Amino acid sequence: MKILVINCGSSSLKYQLIDSDSEAVLAKGLAERIGIDGSSLTHQVPGRDKVEKKESMPDHNVAVRLVIEALTDHEHGVIDSLSEIGAVGHRVVHGGEKFTSAVLIDDKVIEDIDALSALAPLHNPANLIGIDACRKNMPGTPMVAVFDTAFHQSMPKKAYLYGLPYEYYEKHKVRRYGFHGTSHDFVSRHAAEMMGKDRKDLKIIVCHLGNGASVSAVKYGKCVDTSMGLTPLEGLLMGTRSGDIDPAIISYISEKEGLSLQEIEAVLNKKSGVFGLSGYLSSDFRDLDQAAQAGNELAKNALETYCYRVAKYIGSYVVAMQGIDIIAFTAGCGENNYSVRKGICDYLDCLGVTVDDEKLKIRGEDLIVSNPDSKVTVMIVPTNEELAIARQIMELI
Ligand code: AMP
Repeated sequence: MKILVINCGSSSLKYQLIDSDSEAVLAKGLAERIGIDGSSLTHQVPGRDKVEKKESMPDHNVAVRLVIEALTDHEHGVIDSLSEIGAVGHRVVHGGEKFTSAVLIDDKVIEDIDALSALAPLHNPANLIGIDACRKNMPGTPMVAVFDTAFHQSMPKKAYLYGLPYEYYEKHKVRRYGFHGTSHDFVSRHAAEMMGKDRKDLKIIVCHLGNGASVSAVKYGKCVDTSMGLTPLEGLLMGTRSGDIDPAIISYISEKEGLSLQEIEAVLNKKSGVFGLSGYLSSDFRDLDQAAQAGNELAKNALETYCYRVAKYIGSYVVAMQGIDIIAFTAGCGENNYSVRKGICDYLDCLGVTVDDEKLKIRGEDLIVSNPDSKVTVMIVPTNEELAIARQIMELI
């Protein structure tokens, strides 16, 4: 079966067409600047040149129509007609406590995702626009929602409650949810496969280190803790997000800098993390690496603080799981960045971790980087959220 996987943002729409039998990507692309001047669609079929089409996309309906045209185009397309697409998978950021796995989308599911928009105001409405546009353009094709939060719903209460009045949880559902769940699920499963073992017998820590970053503790196949919280702002230092801070900083900075709550939230989301800490040098670790090597102290601080925070989370999850078998690095930095992986692994000596420095330098492939005598297996496991979504759809339908 061919499955179209859609990841819809407020002004963008990423897609992949996947053959569920061979798990091959047949085509992928990105519609950008939807609803903004200068919109364009980039469409790529593996082994062929990228095609870029600059065309006005006033809304997501038009974007979906252009994606369908690209997929069925006689020159650049990969299918003859829409009827070849057996299902569409939509990445939805927040499933709250309602959704613990992927679901077939109907009017009730849409209503429920909409009701959860209060918890993810930037993401869920955009995800719904994509769902709506696909339903209009592909009536009759099953649509499935796959939630970023679902894998973390197995966390016990002690891991997801905040130390706040309990009534905030009861009335407003203020609790930790966690994100990147599709990736943590995929990577922990694949890490176990790489060891030739069943995930149900292992204690695994997944470090998803991209622009957004989170760590999760996966014990015997279930997530028992993760670093992101009510929103994807909590936890690790990220590209531009602060991660954990003392909540009292908010009123203090508000007074000192004369900023409103919204303005401070924007600072915490967009001007903090390694970007803010490096003096707004860059949120890209390649730039920071280069600057640090050239002696830039702020870039060095940012990288050291970043690695230290990841290492602290790893330590706390070893205690949370009462042991550890595998540490898996994934996403942009986790898969590619030697200095970040090295900076983190240097802290893990006390756990009996030893790594092969030459292997640690290899990028972007499934690889065990720890030495055979290491007490914990450390590995690089490239994530593949689209494939994970396609697999969940196959399980469901
Ligand atoms: P992601 O959000 O998963 O795409 O990850 C993006 C981050 O990965 C960027 O900020 C980069 O710093 C990092 N990254 C991607 N490729 C490389 C690379 N080849 N070397 C070092 N860092 C990389």
